[in-house]
Amino acid sequence: MYQDFQKHLQTTLQEIKDAGLYKNERVIITPQSSAIKVEGGADVINFCANNYLGLADNAELIQAAKDRMDARGYGMASVRFICGTQDTHKQLEKAISDFFGTEDTILYAACFDANGGLFEPLLTEQDAIISDALNHASIIDGVRLCKAVRYRYKNGDVTDLEEQLKAAQAQRFRIIATDGVFSMDGNVCPLDKIYELAQKYNALVMVDESHSAGVVGKTGHGVTELYNMRGKIEIITGTLGKAFGGSVGGFTTGKKEIIDLLRQRSRPYLFSNSIPPMIAAAGLKTFELLTRDNTLQDKLHANTEYFVTRMKAAGFDIKPTQSAICAVMLYDARLSQEFAAALQQEGIYVTGFYYPVVPQGQARIRVQLSAAHTREQLDKGIAAFAKIGRQLGVLK
Ligand SMILES: *Cc1c(COP(=O)(O)O)cnc(C)c1O
Repeated sequence: MYQDFQKHLQTTLQEIKDAGLYKNERVIITPQSSAIKVEGGADVINFCANNYLGLADNAELIQAAKDRMDARGYGMASVRFICGTQDTHKQLEKAISDFFGTEDTILYAACFDANGGLFEPLLTEQDAIISDALNHASIIDGVRLCKAVRYRYKNGDVTDLEEQLKAAQAQRFRIIATDGVFSMDGNVCPLDKIYELAQKYNALVMVDESHSAGVVGKTGHGVTELYNMRGKIEIITGTLGKAFGGSVGGFTTGKKEIIDLLRQRSRPYLFSNSIPPMIAAAGLKTFELLTRDNTLQDKLHANTEYFVTRMKAAGFDIKPTQSAICAVMLYDARLSQEFAAALQQEGIYVTGFYYPVVPQGQARIRVQLSAAHTREQLDKGIAAFAKIGRQLGVLK
């Protein structure tokens, strides 16, 4: 039996390769950081991690994880509701609620699970989800698993959103779902306008803060801080895998009854293992660090401003960004791959993105800034971009 299937798989894999879409993984042999070593020995400056606050190798987080592992063991060997909850998990949920100014929080193994298990317990075929066209795959999958009627609006387009909301008046309840920051361009969602429309058309709002929490807003409290809307959004989801330490874990935070029902009915919560105590403890330490002072957030904002300003001055075409994502537009897929490969030769670690990850003809290199980058590393990055840009005819 496997022979036929194997042939089929081999053909599919070859098609992926022929289309130039086969993903090879580069292997890092150091901790995740702003300076890393990849297999083969090259030292590179890392501009493609979601390590926005530089916490992935933070000594305090590592110590908190070690201490809790010594005190509370390695794993929970249970889902939360059977015997997988320690005080640490409850404390972390409380810390997340405090951070976002929400009523309650539920932890998941990942934000992918938080989004995957969000809609189905809350809505039925009588209801509607109005989703931004560029939402993350996990929101799209979560919507698919739910029987609610689906509407889609153009990325960040509030005129189109209003049209969809009008159509969705046919349903009982409505949820508008959006990413806080869209990861390919770095733009933030127009949350103030979305909220206004939600009031006008009687809808709830769900924001995925994965790329915005810890990053956006003066103190990094995310898009609700940026728009001065703390406590107003009914549902926020997020990850511990990006700015908040870079390990694993996801959460949904918001209205008390919503979280309570998710604990009763959300399938990735009910049927998947509890996060380990050490991860919960390091998560808790993350929120302690971020509320102790604003050093990391300030550094990230200064680094982003520095990098984006100088890249524009050098003549690069940069997508408008309000986050720590800087999309350097090259438009041509092959060029984006050549450019990224040449940068790696210069010791600059980035990834070129092209169709289908971004629209056809919109190839780019996505740079992600971090609080861990030093001025010298940023300068090296900018100089290397300029050198390769001239070599490849992107800059005149
Ligand atoms: C990264 C990301 C996720 C997935 O987070 P994990 O915790 O890694 O599963 C979900 N939503 C958005 C918008 C993301 O950027």
